[in-house]
Amino acid sequence: MKALAKLEAREGIWMTDVEKPEVGPNDLLIRIRKSSICGTDVHIYKWDDWAQKTIPVPMHVGHEYMGVVEAMGSEVRGFEVGDRVSGEGHITCGHCRNCRAGRRHLCRNTLGVGVNRPGSFAEYLVIPAFNAFKLPDNIPDEIASILDPFGNAVHTALSFDLVGEDVLVTGAGPIGIMAAAVAKHVGARNVVITDVNDYRLNLARKFGVTRAVNVAKENLQDVMHDLDMHEGFDVGLEMSGSGPAFNQMLTHMNHGGKVALLGIPASGVTIDWNNVIFKGLVIKGIYGREMFETWYKMVAILQSGLDLTPILTHRFSIDDYEKGFQTMISGQSGKVILDWD
Ligand code: NAD
Ligand code: ZN
Repeated sequence: MKALAKLEAREGIWMTDVEKPEVGPNDLLIRIRKSSICGTDVHIYKWDDWAQKTIPVPMHVGHEYMGVVEAMGSEVRGFEVGDRVSGEGHITCGHCRNCRAGRRHLCRNTLGVGVNRPGSFAEYLVIPAFNAFKLPDNIPDEIASILDPFGNAVHTALSFDLVGEDVLVTGAGPIGIMAAAVAKHVGARNVVITDVNDYRLNLARKFGVTRAVNVAKENLQDVMHDLDMHEGFDVGLEMSGSGPAFNQMLTHMNHGGKVALLGIPASGVTIDWNNVIFKGLVIKGIYGREMFETWYKMVAILQSGLDLTPILTHRFSIDDYEKGFQTMISGQSGKVILDWD
């Protein structure tokens, strides 16, 4: 089958031919219809330090997708050939304490589809049926292909009560924008999102955020003053991985504020711990999505009217994958979809 793989330990990604994966007794074989490109795939493409330490070569990658069940193992229940599915990309062990307690998102033995094992940039993907998520008919294919990053946004945003709260989102990448949209959708009062990229701030404005602020040009304190916010933000969602953005967030939180961290810093970040201690802030790290509570919440949020369509800014046929990657790398995009049909 065709697959998009890291074939050499240098920048780039290449189309290749690999064996169609074997289907174990508890697995589903999924024929991929749409993939989307994640920031992680860009790290793999660029072959940065993290990718060099993490990704085996050769291996085909990718973990944001939707497709159709083509075959299933003898022990699988609850799915049928032809079902439209997406899948949770974190494969958990099932036997550690957290797994056994139903806290699969905290499994210490997590393996990532397309990171630690072959991924979904391929004609076919095999995952444990446990990880598959059957799609309701009213969730279109393209939206279904971004449920993995939307799940990061939903898991992070719903970490704390948002109703009536003033929320700061740092980083208007696709995940930050979706988190801001969720915050607005579930009843936050002011949702302020920051970035240094005007293309992305304009994209965020399509989701009805209160203010989209370019912190390279505008002062966040002035924005808060305009919004009559004199005490600080109640909830912070860090979605940039930028040290300066995290510090700016801590400075502008109210006392007792709550901060969820999704963004992955490139290297050691120093913060002013006095902000955390004397303000009594709560800080929570977020990895992945809750299995499978986040997936049910995502569907409910979409079915109750949140329209994510504007985040899908570019579409390419799989043969034009290189254009897709260059579009992501340019920073002038939301989600980029690759079509396998
Ligand atoms: P992205 O790289 O597309 O977006 C990050 C944004 O932050 C960019 O638009 C960038 O311009 C902006 N930014 C840079 N400096 C800034 C500053 N000083 N202030 C405000 N914004 C600034 O990433 P994404 O795909 O939207 O993902 C968001 C983050 O979450 C990334 O760091 C990603 O690695 C991370 N992530 C974490 C998990 C997890 O499980 N923890 C999962 C997926 C992604
Ligand atoms: Zn486990």
